[in-house]
Amino acid sequence: MDNEQEYSPGVLKYIEEAKKFLDKKKEHLARVKKLKFDTIAVHGLYTVEEALNQNQGAVIEPLYLSSSQAYRDSDELEAALSYLIPTWCYTRIANPTTYYLEWVLALLEGYQTGSDTSCLVTASGMSAIMSAVDPFLVKQKEGEEKINFVSSIQLYGGTFQHFSIRKMQERGIEVRWVEHQEDIEEWKTKIDENTRFLYSEAPSNPQQSFCDIKALADLAHSWEIPFIIDSTCATPALMRPIAYGADIVIHSLTKSITSGGLAIGGALVSRKPIVTNIKNDDPLFKESFAEYVKFLPYRDTGPAASPPNALFALNDLRTLRSKIDLVSQNSQKVAEFLSQHPRVYQVDYLGLENYPLHILAKKYMKLVDSDDGKGNEVNRYGHLLSFRVDGPPENARKVFDNLKIIFRATDLGRIKSVATIPAISTHLQQGEDAREKADVPPQLIRLCVGGENPDDITADLDQALNSL
Ligand SMILES: *Cc1c(COP(=O)(O)O)cnc(C)c1O
Repeated sequence: MDNEQEYSPGVLKYIEEAKKFLDKKKEHLARVKKLKFDTIAVHGLYTVEEALNQNQGAVIEPLYLSSSQAYRDSDELEAALSYLIPTWCYTRIANPTTYYLEWVLALLEGYQTGSDTSCLVTASGMSAIMSAVDPFLVKQKEGEEKINFVSSIQLYGGTFQHFSIRKMQERGIEVRWVEHQEDIEEWKTKIDENTRFLYSEAPSNPQQSFCDIKALADLAHSWEIPFIIDSTCATPALMRPIAYGADIVIHSLTKSITSGGLAIGGALVSRKPIVTNIKNDDPLFKESFAEYVKFLPYRDTGPAASPPNALFALNDLRTLRSKIDLVSQNSQKVAEFLSQHPRVYQVDYLGLENYPLHILAKKYMKLVDSDDGKGNEVNRYGHLLSFRVDGPPENARKVFDNLKIIFRATDLGRIKSVATIPAISTHLQQGEDAREKADVPPQLIRLCVGGENPDDITADLDQALNSL
C-alpha cells in the first residue's frame, strides 16, 4: 500500500474500509493468541459474531465451494486484484474455508513459541514441500557455481524422490545427504556458501530418526540460511520447531492432523521473519514467507488446496491434542509389547528408553499444555513405530498378511491402526542402495497405532506373529 496517491478515490475508499477491518482483526487475533491450544484448535478465528452476522448462525465454519468472488464495483475489483485489500478472489489463490484452516495451523504451530507465524495450505504434503523449497533454489547471479542444499537422507519416500529425481537429476541442484541427522558435525561438513537451506524430517517416516532442532537452526542461521523441517509425525500437539529457531515447518495434513482419513492436504508454516540470504525484492519473502508463496509462486504454479479437504482437516484438527495423547499412549503400550516378543528382533519407537535417539526426542516431544504434577510437560512420542520380524523377508510378509484388525495400507496417522512394509511400498522406487542407507530393510513393518483399545491391537499382532 505504498503509493496510495496513485489510486482513484473509489479505490481509496475500499482501502480505508479494509484498514478498519484489519485493525479489528488484529485485536481479535491478539485475543485468540491468549487462549489455550485446545481452544484455538476448536475455534480458530471463527466467532459467534461472524456466524450470526455473516453465516446464518452456522456453528461450524461454512464450506465455500465457489471458485471465485464477486465485487461490488470496478474500484473494489481493482483494489482486490492489486492485493490492496483482504480478498479471496479466486480459489487457486485463496478461499474463505481454507483461510480458517490456515489460521488455526499458523496459531497452533506458533503457540507459545514467542514468534508470529503465517501459514499456507496446499493440495498435499508434497506440494507444501515443493512450495517451501523452490523459492530458495533460484539463481542469484550469472556464472554462479552449482547451488546445493543439505538434507537428512531419512525422509518420507516421496520427499526422497522429489529431492533426488526432480531436483538433483532434472534440475542439476546438488542434494547433499546427511546420513546421521542427529550428528550436527556431519551437517557442518556439508554446508558451503552455495547452500540454500538445511532440510530435516523429524521424527522421520518410517525410520524414526531425529535431529537436534535447536542446534540445526543455529547452524543454518550462522550461514544466514533457513532451517526447514517436516514435522508431520509430531504435529504441533507434540512439538513446535519454531520455538527452537526453525524457519519453516511442513506438514502433510493427510496424516495425523486429518486422522479421520477423508482428505489430502499439506501446510507450510513460516516464522515471521525467516532467515535467508536470498535477494528478493518483495519484503514478504523474508517477513512472511508463507504469505509470499501464497500470493506469488503458488498463484503461478497452482497447487491449491481443495476447500472440502480443508474443512475435513479443520474438523479433525479440533481434537488434535487429546487424540495425539491417546494414540501416543497406545503406541507406547504396543511398542513395549513388541519389544518383548520372541519373533521380533528390533522395535523402533522414540518412546522406548533403549531406543538410541530416545534422549534427543525426549528433549523436544512433549504434549502441549500437559502437566506431570511437578510443573513439567509430559513426554509423548506420537503413533509411528516400526518393528523387524525375525528371519527372511517372507516372514515379515506372512505376519503382515495375517493381520486381522490392523489394515494393510500405505497410510499413516489414522485413527485406525494401519501397517505397511515400506520396502515394497513407500520406499520401493528408491532402490536397494538408498533403502540400505536409510535403514529400511524388507523385514521392517511400519505400524501406526490408532485409537482402538491397545489390548486388541497387541492381540492382533500376537496372533499374526505366532503364525510363523
Ligand atoms: C505423507 C508424507 C508426506 C507427503 O504428504 P502427502 O500429503 O501424501 O503429499 C510428506 N512428509 C511426510 C513425513 C509424510 O509422511
